[in-house]
Amino acid sequence: MSEYIAPIQRLIEEFRKLPGVGVKTAARYAFSVLNFTDDDAARFADAINGIKRDVYKCPICFGLSSNIGKCDICASDNRDHSLICVVENAKDVVTMERVRGYKGVYHVLGGALSPLDNITPDDLNFSELLSRVEGGEVSEVVIATNPTPNGDTTATYLARILDKYDVKVSRLAYGIPVGGDIEYADEVTLHRAMEGRRYYKE
Ligand code: ZN
Repeated sequence: MSEYIAPIQRLIEEFRKLPGVGVKTAARYAFSVLNFTDDDAARFADAINGIKRDVYKCPICFGLSSNIGKCDICASDNRDHSLICVVENAKDVVTMERVRGYKGVYHVLGGALSPLDNITPDDLNFSELLSRVEGGEVSEVVIATNPTPNGDTTATYLARILDKYDVKVSRLAYGIPVGGDIEYADEVTLHRAMEGRRYYKE
């Protein structure tokens, strides 16, 4: 039997689904929600519902969009649509946008290849990237997968499938800690990594 009465236990279980949240932290969160006013609680619940209701996937880059159809980056005339930066997750687009001076567009793969987790090329947005490249407007693909074993495997695979196309293929230089995640890199490190990207093919 649970130590807590059912409604509290229920919220604790929900908070535990968040990354890095254990039982103690989840209980602390649940008890702070208990102190919310009714309005605060309604806003909190609505924010969670809203993220499912009002966030769309861009049909071009698979980044997040607040409207149905192209995201702001894909729709912009101020971006260089011939330069595509390939990232693992939609969150990485936000991180890469902190690199001042990057004026290209993005392609979100939806993860990285992982033989251990059975994530194969069919599970990721590779074919959609190839369609963009085949469209003929693209001159360079910058691979910005994480410098982890899965990110490396994904980058190597990408370089291989892009080989037959007439596009430059590069990857972010290591300026980012090995085994790390680009989400946690600072602006300067990311900027250097972008500047020092390596070409698989030019
Ligand atoms: Zn887009």
